[in-house]
Amino acid sequence: MRHPGHSVVAGPPVVGPPIGGPTGALVFTTVLTGGPLSRADVAELTGLSAAAVTKAMRPLADAGYLVEEEPADHGSRRVGRPATPVRVCAERCYFVGIKVTGDELIGVVTDLQATICAVVHRPLPSHDVDEVVAALAELAGELLGESRDYRRRFGGLGVSVGGDVDPETGTVRYAPFLGWRQVPLVRLLGVATGLHVLLENDVRALTVAEQWFGAGLGSRTFAVVTVGVGIGCALFVNGAVVAGAHGVAGEIGHFPVDAYGPLCHCGNRGCVEAIAGSSAILAKVTAITDGRASDMDAAIALARGGSPEVRAVFTVAGHAIGMALAAVANFIGPELVVISGDGLEAYDLFEDQIRTTFAEQAFGAAGECDLIIRPHTFDDWARGAAAVAIQRFIEPGTTAPAARFRAPPLSV
Ligand SMILES: [Zn+2]
Repeated sequence: MRHPGHSVVAGPPVVGPPIGGPTGALVFTTVLTGGPLSRADVAELTGLSAAAVTKAMRPLADAGYLVEEEPADHGSRRVGRPATPVRVCAERCYFVGIKVTGDELIGVVTDLQATICAVVHRPLPSHDVDEVVAALAELAGELLGESRDYRRRFGGLGVSVGGDVDPETGTVRYAPFLGWRQVPLVRLLGVATGLHVLLENDVRALTVAEQWFGAGLGSRTFAVVTVGVGIGCALFVNGAVVAGAHGVAGEIGHFPVDAYGPLCHCGNRGCVEAIAGSSAILAKVTAITDGRASDMDAAIALARGGSPEVRAVFTVAGHAIGMALAAVANFIGPELVVISGDGLEAYDLFEDQIRTTFAEQAFGAAGECDLIIRPHTFDDWARGAAAVAIQRFIEPGTTAPAARFRAPPLSV
């Protein structure tokens, strides 16, 4: 049901953690992303003194952001006072993240550690700006309506949109799949909901989630490449997500890999996306099979079923993706590249060629970069939008790097 004005009822935004400065931010993000940790662990991971760690933790504990856990039982033979692990109180506040696709809104509520607490998917009736804003407001209201705690301890609403997005001004500058140009989404949605709204490009939002709560944890430099209708990429370099001077850094989808290749929707020729985007793959398979494969599932079935011509289309796509990944590795020298996106359902058809081409084209030590395949669901993309809200909540204005951890083993 829609309400006039689409106003969302939530309490005033909760006050963010009293981090005080860079030391406090480092201590808090270290516990947030790697806790529970003892004070000695935090000191070792951050390079701070134990006294500095204790001092930074005190106001955070007083404000309910850090809590002490029961120390682990090491048996009666252990001598001395056991170290008390400290963890973030994840339920201290809640965030809403919404990913906008061409035909659907995917919304989640997460806690402070980006754990998903609620999920709602809603079809997007049209691409009209007012209607999308109304649908976003309605979805945010529905998510917050699921628990009084969500409304009382609300920290922020993050929205992620594919395309050229300016998080600083809160403007969607160009979103081809919505047909939007220069839409001040943060202002419009803020008026419609009364909530604190943050906006980010969808792949950069996913990268923030990977940075703090995923495969990028502990990496100073990594990239996320998404394979699907579009080929997206976001770069995390020396501890910060890179937007570039014009907000479009990392547009690997339009990196030219074949000067004589097919025309791209951007108007240029031989872009990665024009060869390896799922629409491009499907168009080529449809043409060579005289329309027998009319959707991607059929194309994948033909390739897996032994059609060498269709299989070759995927191999050529894998080659283009491998070239793109090598370009990323050669440009920024990442420790790892996380490969994701809905195109991964056909990853078995690309993988050998991607790895072969990458190994051939990566220059010297750049080839030591790990390629990690990580399927993300649409809920994970929405979680990325929430992660942006979490990061801004903790560090308004800046993104301090978390301390160096090794990420937990990945389920691939
Ligand atoms: Zn292009």
